[in-house]
Amino acid sequence: MVYEGTAVSDGAAIGNVFQYRPCGRSVEESFIEAGKVEESIQAYREVLKKAEAELQILAEDKELEEEQRKIFQAHIDIVQDEAMGEEIEEEIRENLFSPEYAVQTVYARYIAVISKAKDALIRERAADLKDVSLRMIRLLSGKEENGLASLPGDVILIAHDLLPSDTAAMQKEHVLAIVTEIGGYTSHMAILARNYGIPAVLGVPDILIHTENGEKIAVDAHAGKVLTNLTQAQEKQYQVMRDEYLKKKNDMKQYIGVEPVTADGTKIEVCLNIGSADKNELELEKYTDGVGLFRTEFLYMSKKKLPTEEEQFAVYKKVAEIFGERQVIIRTLDIGGDKKLDYLELPQEDNPFLGLRALRLCFEMKPIFKTQLRAILRAGYYGNIWIMFPMVGSIGDIRFAKEIVQEVRDELEEEKIPYGRHVKVGIMVEIPSIALMADIAASEVDFASIGTNDLCQYLMAVDRLNPSVAKYYQSFHPAMFRLIKQIVEAFTRQGKPVSVCGEMGGNPQAVALLAGLGIRKFSMNASSIASVKKMISQLNICKAQRMSRTVLELSTAVQVENYLNSEFLE
Ligand code: PEP
Ligand code: MG
Repeated sequence: MVYEGTAVSDGAAIGNVFQYRPCGRSVEESFIEAGKVEESIQAYREVLKKAEAELQILAEDKELEEEQRKIFQAHIDIVQDEAMGEEIEEEIRENLFSPEYAVQTVYARYIAVISKAKDALIRERAADLKDVSLRMIRLLSGKEENGLASLPGDVILIAHDLLPSDTAAMQKEHVLAIVTEIGGYTSHMAILARNYGIPAVLGVPDILIHTENGEKIAVDAHAGKVLTNLTQAQEKQYQVMRDEYLKKKNDMKQYIGVEPVTADGTKIEVCLNIGSADKNELELEKYTDGVGLFRTEFLYMSKKKLPTEEEQFAVYKKVAEIFGERQVIIRTLDIGGDKKLDYLELPQEDNPFLGLRALRLCFEMKPIFKTQLRAILRAGYYGNIWIMFPMVGSIGDIRFAKEIVQEVRDELEEEKIPYGRHVKVGIMVEIPSIALMADIAASEVDFASIGTNDLCQYLMAVDRLNPSVAKYYQSFHPAMFRLIKQIVEAFTRQGKPVSVCGEMGGNPQAVALLAGLGIRKFSMNASSIASVKKMISQLNICKAQRMSRTVLELSTAVQVENYLNSEFLE
């Protein structure tokens, strides 16, 4: 059988299925016999100890980020809460509730109260309570944690979805490929898979039902296919595909440390796209000229409540210090569209990609925006941080955002808190209206970065996540290059840096064309660095310019792709 999904991280794999099903079911109403009260209370107390021991290991795990360890420490405090413990035992003793049902009932009671609190910080504790109650219910039912920290050898990981907390301790060296039932090209899991260089196909409906633990399957993460019930011929075919993929990956490694200078001597900056300060994401940092895009929303999405100013400051400062004099472009919160925060109630919208997203949302939630700006500006004291606004649609947006930055600077000044006085302020160009106003925008900001993912979505009027219109999403359409040319010229004329940080920035052929249009800085996922550097080192800038001139005169995306393929076949 062949199941289809979205190919989000290139490659191929053949291997045994490991189904990841985090325990987390609620329990039915259930009771114990009157004579079993003491036994049940004892069972509950044993589980308290087990939960604490599991959490203690996590809270001390040096492999995890400090932030994650802190969450587990907070969970230990919840487990140790005496009032809740007494109520649970009372439910068992007085009402003969089974221990699982007693835990669920008492925790639900607390969650209901906390969820109504006025203070957002208190409300957010509800998610922690829920997490702890699920852990205790799992332990009471005698199940081990079905975690990803100790996988049974090399596996193809199948899950409904994978959350940052699931993947934090994942043994990525044992994951041959990832397949999930939901998610698309720009989902968190997709970005992580690309960073780790793990082939991945997301959005394969019901794949948990169609596969079994231990069953041998194949994944073609180029075509977005998952194959089960393999014939011998298919097994051979996919083993060959896997070997070719590994060979290509290995051959590329020699380019990772190459200076990104074209064959005729033009220096091109190669920067990294990151979503956290985790060491996995920063592994290749020394081969780059800085961070060209820090997608900070992942910091918000990996938590169960809004990250505080101090938490954010610690992360931004860590990255700034690692990169030293090299630039670190921190993009302010880009939430909305497909990126949601469970703990933040956002309006239900018919067209979320055209709705209250990113900067627009930050304008509506000014305190949250200001908290982030404070953290970024403060971290700017420790390195070369640049602030970048996403989803800028007008000059008015730029001016309003800059006013808020100024407000935050003034407050920090007044409070005598050190901050980066020379932090540059720039924009993402990803909405056509601001691309067309690039000459004026360039005079308002210090720099720009072109977000080709959204620019294509808004230019071609195609939902970037909707598979039924995927064929209309044409990033190689001549219209894209015509518009980008205009942006590059406007910024370059005013001596302002302009880079590309969307997925095109990590595509070697696109890099060649964009270099021909005058782009000298590209930011990409870690897994693209070697292939982009290879392209740059073999590129002649005159040839790139000639190619870009040709492309501007072509009529369709197919023509552009065919033309590029013929040029690079030579
Ligand atoms: C883009 O739109 O190109 C971009 C880099 O931002 P994101 O993919 O996070 O929307
Ligand atoms: Mg974008």
